Amino acid sequence: ATPTALLVASGRGAQLGVFIKGHQALESAKAIDTVVLDKTGTLTTGTMSVTALEAADGVSRAEVLAAAAAVENASEHGVGRAIVELAREELGTVGEAEDFRALSGLGVSGRVDRHEVLVGSVRLVRTEIGTVPPGLDSRRQQWETDGHTAVAVAIDGRVCAVFALADTVRPSAAGAVAELRALGLRTVMLTGDNESTARAVAAEVGIDEVVAEVLPADKASAIARLRAEGRVVAMVGDGINDGPALAGADLGMALVSGTDVAVGACDLILMRTDLSVVPAAVRLARATLRTIR
Ligand code: ADP
Ligand code: MG
Repeated sequence: ATPTALLVASGRGAQLGVFIKGHQALESAKAIDTVVLDKTGTLTTGTMSVTALEAADGVSRAEVLAAAAAVENASEHGVGRAIVELAREELGTVGEAEDFRALSGLGVSGRVDRHEVLVGSVRLVRTEIGTVPPGLDSRRQQWETDGHTAVAVAIDGRVCAVFALADTVRPSAAGAVAELRALGLRTVMLTGDNESTARAVAAEVGIDEVVAEVLPADKASAIARLRAEGRVVAMVGDGINDGPALAGADLGMALVSGTDVAVGACDLILMRTDLSVVPAAVRLARATLRTIR
């Protein structure tokens, strides 16, 4: 491309809220056949709220909420923030945990009033603690089928509650996915959340394929696998946890909201949280390269 053509593309890009990092990004955008979208924080807002809490027999709601919130108090994750928020509403205060540990993409643990507390995905709690009581397990299965995220709470080696959390699908998600498909692109959701939840959300927004239960550290390998199948892959993420996956894609697109700056790994920076900017960027790249040639 000539410098002038690139400038034109950048000018139009700026109007759309797309910042293009160099000419190679346009070439890549034209060649892609698959668009991978991160779920939490990209297809959804990532701002969660607790919609249900089921405690095991003999365990009080207040007790389990207090313990879970004390551990989650140190977490930045949407799940943690939602649990802390509920505790503030229902209990007025939130305690603190000792020996806080965050297991990225899995959950958190810590000690609250000399009790060992673990809050995390059902998979994590099963591996670390053991079986989830049948009553709690059937509730969480139902929640997941409905598209909610479920987490379990264990206190002193006993699974004693499950929480359901709702995230909000961005209003622009379904339209953007439909446009991507109309452009001939295959759409894939990539998430650390469980398979049932992921499938429910994918169905809601019209996504073709789901790759679920992927740890943050494995997201780049998931992208590499798609590329090894011969696909030319664009990845859309929030640019914070998704850095390696964005860098490993043929085209990395970071959706940033104003103040975020962790965008080093991507080729296109989308300065809006309106997902319609994703197909717009692809169309812009195609049109620009047509003009140049
Ligand atoms: P995504 O890929 O959708 O952004 P994450 O990798 O952030 O999801 O999280 C994957 C799963 O790990 C969550 O659905 C949840 O079950 C669990 N998890 C992550 N962080 C926490 C936390 N602070 N508390 C409890 N569970 C958590
Ligand atoms: Mg995410």
